[in-house]
Amino acid sequence: MPDHSSIAAPGSVKTVTSLTNPTIKDIRGLALPKNRKESGLFVTEGMKLVADAVEEDWPIKILVYGAKVADHPVVRRVATTAHARGGDVLEVSEAVLAKITRRENPQMVVGVFEQKLTPKSDIKPGPTGVWVALEGIKDPGNLGTIIRTADAVGAEGVILVGDTVDPFGVEAVRATMGSIFHMKLARMSVAEFKEWRKGWPGIVVGTHLSGKSDYRTIDYDRPVMLFMGNEQSGLPEDLAATCDHLVKIPQAGRADSLNLAIATGVMLYEIRRDRLKL
Ligand code: SAM
Repeated sequence: MPDHSSIAAPGSVKTVTSLTNPTIKDIRGLALPKNRKESGLFVTEGMKLVADAVEEDWPIKILVYGAKVADHPVVRRVATTAHARGGDVLEVSEAVLAKITRRENPQMVVGVFEQKLTPKSDIKPGPTGVWVALEGIKDPGNLGTIIRTADAVGAEGVILVGDTVDPFGVEAVRATMGSIFHMKLARMSVAEFKEWRKGWPGIVVGTHLSGKSDYRTIDYDRPVMLFMGNEQSGLPEDLAATCDHLVKIPQAGRADSLNLAIATGVMLYEIRRDRLKL
């Protein structure tokens, strides 16, 4: 668990220029899955993303900003809100931000937030609500892109089944472009999912390269759980067997399959076709 004892009490801004400051080391350490798991925290970068998250009441633990943006009205507003909610506020040098973010040209604002997962008992889809279930996804960029796309089409949430990569890792969070703060995320083991799925009030549509139905032939006017498989091996047979439909996206060229995030995007836009209007 990161030790935040070196941070000033809420209500004050602490200035940090030392690259060896223990809090800075702790924040940097959140790049490791083990530290995220122990602390329940994660890092997000960028003034807009941090400001949006704070405005949406996401629990912020630490706000870090570069001294050169200290007078920016958004930074001032976010710092005030973070203080008011008991978060710690650090004003740091650009070198410290580069160290935290491991980037030469770092973002000027970084937030450390509490992770939030939705318990499965709170997954209650609306009459045409869409959830995406992902099994064994390994690529954080794919996961972040899927969360972002699910948000874009108005899906209700994403369920991470089995051994799926951490959505709160730096790469996944970056790829969500802020949607990590807007989408409900749930986690279940394969066994839990199989049991819980029995109570799903609509259809479960799995995508499979050996699917027999064209994905455009399904009636999606009901609660839909879209089930996507792992990048290499696809949906395992036991989970494919839990689906009401196994669908395929037709292909014409020589590619074996679509990239997972692209396939998810194609599916979600078909499922939500009648509800998305310009
Ligand atoms: N070799 C894997 C297989 O046999 O399933 C390919 C996996 S593909 C790269 C990753 C995931 O994207 C698949 O599990 C499936 O969910 C989805 N996918 C990719 N192309 C698809 C297509 N043409 N039709 C349906 N699903 C597709």
